[in-house]
Amino acid sequence: MSDRAEQLGQLTAKFAGWDAIFGGTTLLTKNELVAACSGVSVLGFNILMAKYTGDEKSITLLVKGSTQTINRKGLIGNPELSGVVALTAVSEFLGTDLCPGCNGRGSIFPKGTAVRTCKTCEGKGRVTPGQRRRARLAGVPVQEWRDHSCDKVVAKIRNILEREEGAALVIFFRKIQG
Ligand SMILES: [Zn+2]
Repeated sequence: MSDRAEQLGQLTAKFAGWDAIFGGTTLLTKNELVAACSGVSVLGFNILMAKYTGDEKSITLLVKGSTQTINRKGLIGNPELSGVVALTAVSEFLGTDLCPGCNGRGSIFPKGTAVRTCKTCEGKGRVTPGQRRRARLAGVPVQEWRDHSCDKVVAKIRNILEREEGAALVIFFRKIQG
């Protein structure tokens, strides 16, 4: 496997160096990603660009596309909420819900003892914020957030993004290993 492939592999693994992505270090250039992405869906391409190069245009497109999906499927009674719910789903997908207990690693390494699974997130590396926190971050009254089942819509959008990311990564790895 090439160095780049290995780096991306490490990123997607559980012990991902999240600090590297969100600390401002870019592991892939946009051109490298573009070259390895022929055959990846447009959505998948924007997902990889957003997640692994931090491309702002792609992030904007993901939020826009997710908002349109919510509206098209009529997932929320009040269309004024679609945008903020989409933004919540995309930002969580891009990694802002990392577990504070283990910083997204899923395990903790106490000095002088064996590696332990993080109790806060049960090894998942992520914690799903509760309705209250999501509503606050989105600037929507909690009651309204709850009334429109916004949590369910966030979960649905995240599922779509995760599925599409998985499909895109399969193609991506095939290309760069080719
Ligand atoms: Zn944790």
